[in-house]
Amino acid sequence: MMHGKALTPLELYKVLEKSNCQRCMLPSCLAFAAAVVAGQKSLDDCPFLSEEVKDTLSVTLQKRSLAEPRQAEFMEKLLQEVKQIDLAAVASRIGATYGNGVLSVRSMGKEFHVNSQGQVRSECHIIPWVQAPLLSYICYPTHQAITGRWISFRELKGGIDWQGLFASRCETPLRKLADAQPELLGDIVDLFQGKEVEGFDADIALVLHPLPHLPILICYQVADGDLQSKLTILFDECCGTNLHIKSIYTLCAGLIKMFEQIARNHFGNN
Ligand code: SF4
Repeated sequence: MMHGKALTPLELYKVLEKSNCQRCMLPSCLAFAAAVVAGQKSLDDCPFLSEEVKDTLSVTLQKRSLAEPRQAEFMEKLLQEVKQIDLAAVASRIGATYGNGVLSVRSMGKEFHVNSQGQVRSECHIIPWVQAPLLSYICYPTHQAITGRWISFRELKGGIDWQGLFASRCETPLRKLADAQPELLGDIVDLFQGKEVEGFDADIALVLHPLPHLPILICYQVADGDLQSKLTILFDECCGTNLHIKSIYTLCAGLIKMFEQIARNHFGNN
């Protein structure tokens, strides 16, 4: 039905129950199909889709996102914005350092260096999903220090619109990875200078810093009897002030992809 092309609402509708039962909190299966394709609902919101069907559909939905036509345009705009920024002046405000014409920003424990032309270099492999949110973070007009208060993705400014996509591309895949390889979360702490924290309703709670003033908290609860495992990604309240919701989503989706790669390399997952 869908070979390499972006999934359409009609294609998704064809595999739904078509009972219009409204358990997804939408009036009909067709409305649900449209909302999933628009990134406003997750496949997990329909309880009648099997894991197998969801896995197949997720791949097609990802192709849609990767094919975002305006990505190159967006990057060009960002580069122009960085050229207008006084990197020395923004450094301390955004939790970075400046020297010799270069801004150094830490992401997940690794240093990324940005020059006045917006060129990014690092000791680690540069991948596009880091570059765009990093430059957006540098240019973002508002900034707030870390508050220590954790909120859900949907509570961030604009989060409701991206919640479905965030759940299906970030929380669900990471939960599945943790289910298959519980030691992965410990490895993430070691590899990316994360910190295990206490006091949350979770078996494992860890804090990571994808950007200096953008801490995220991953809470994972293992399955217990009939209760399914649970994984939630929370954000410091400042995140919504320091980066646009779309960039926050891109950053998290990129992180999860990297974790999937690590799981494949370390544990031989598929
Ligand atoms: S929960 Fe599933 S079957 Fe029920 S209305 Fe929503 S999409 Fe249709």
